[in-house]
Amino acid sequence: MTYTAMVIGGGIAGTLSAIALRKAGHDAVIYEAYDKTADQAGAFLTLAVNALDALRTLGVDIGDLGFDTPEITITSGSGRLLGRLPHGSSLPDGTTSRTVKRADLYRTLREHALRRGLRIEYGKRLVDASGTGDGVRASFADGTTAEGDLLIGADGLRSRTRHLIDPDAPEARYTGLLTLGGYARGVTTGGEPGVMHAIFGKRCFFTHTTHPDGEVWWAANPAQRTELTSPSTYDWRARLVELFRHDRGPALDIIAATDTFLPGWNTYDIPSVPRWHRDRMIIIGDAAHATAPSIGQGAAMAIEDTVVLATCLRDAAGPEAAFAAYERQRRARVERVVAQGNRTGGWKTLGPLARVPRDFVMRLAMSRMAKTGHDPSQWIYDHHIDWEHAAS
Ligand SMILES: Cc1cc2nc3c(=O)[nH]c(=O)nc-3n(C[C@H](O)[C@H](O)[C@H](O)COP(=O)(O)OP(=O)(O)OC[C@H]3O[C@@H](n4cnc5c(N)ncnc54)[C@H](O)[C@@H]3O)c2cc1C
Repeated sequence: MTYTAMVIGGGIAGTLSAIALRKAGHDAVIYEAYDKTADQAGAFLTLAVNALDALRTLGVDIGDLGFDTPEITITSGSGRLLGRLPHGSSLPDGTTSRTVKRADLYRTLREHALRRGLRIEYGKRLVDASGTGDGVRASFADGTTAEGDLLIGADGLRSRTRHLIDPDAPEARYTGLLTLGGYARGVTTGGEPGVMHAIFGKRCFFTHTTHPDGEVWWAANPAQRTELTSPSTYDWRARLVELFRHDRGPALDIIAATDTFLPGWNTYDIPSVPRWHRDRMIIIGDAAHATAPSIGQGAAMAIEDTVVLATCLRDAAGPEAAFAAYERQRRARVERVVAQGNRTGGWKTLGPLARVPRDFVMRLAMSRMAKTGHDPSQWIYDHHIDWEHAAS
């Protein structure tokens, strides 16, 4: 059976879902709310090897975007090195994590979609959807409608599709952390290019890595009890200086060498969405299982979703059987990743008393990992999806 899918959202999950469906012999049109993919466009993210492996399965080469980030160091706010480890494993051919600017990634994915003849319609915000018997009719905020055999909601954290499938679906949960960041030039960090440096500061988490061209990419996660209505409107420089004043390390120098800060975000996750699909509609990516950024796996999970969904739609007897097979393959894994992301984020919000035991436990864990070569998160990175035999 060949389907035409309406894919809602032109972010990572949406664009790659259309590419994966095309590879599986189906057709797809992407409907994106904005005139370009928008959220956090200035930020960067790390594609772990499970994400790169899934991209490879789809034949999507991200070329020379960003740079390899194969190692991570973890340091305390007092400057003590707690550990130096591989940053999320490597593939058999030596491929390691790659850190990319989000806007570059979106642009490259869009180019791949267009090269495959896929259509992207901008300014199409989904507001409603209803069954037509053997398909779905989607209504957009501009008053237009579209029809297709399936509707795939890849519309992110605030997914409209999630609520069309289940009006009682949960909302995103605020994690208690903000993300701020930027790019600095002309500053000496003491770090080598390609090494991700994570600093569990006395009052705030800070991470930085240096591009081979010398630009320093950095982020900070201030703990903030309640979410901010509009984090992008604050002047963060003074607050960050205050937060890192008592730490050893390059945070203050990097902040001083940053001309423009990224706007700043509240961060969220969604531990479990009970219903992922109904009739001919399904949600994938952040719409179904947003993951706290601390674990660096949200985009990776979205990419994996697209491969699995396309193989299920290729192999199952009909859409509902395909969606059920998809959920069987994805739910346990993504919910485990979301739970681990939540725990990792929790390490960043600890107060002064809990910091000392935290640093001790981290140092022990790092040294055990270095000695045994076993990373307890290996199950995340080792996940390979076989395109030929994926569906069950
Ligand atoms: C600060 C931060 C750092 C992160 N770092 C990492 C990292 O290092 N590694 C990693 O793997 N992940 C990371 N993530 C997570 C990752 O960014 C997300 O998991 C990923 O972008 C999810 O992709 P998506 O396509 O599901 O959603 P999105 O990228 O949010 O895309 C959703 C798209 O749908 C569109 N849309 C929304 N509503 C509608 C509608 N009603 N109609 C039509 N279109 C709509 C939006 O405009 C958007 O283009 C990070 C996240 C944050 C916030």
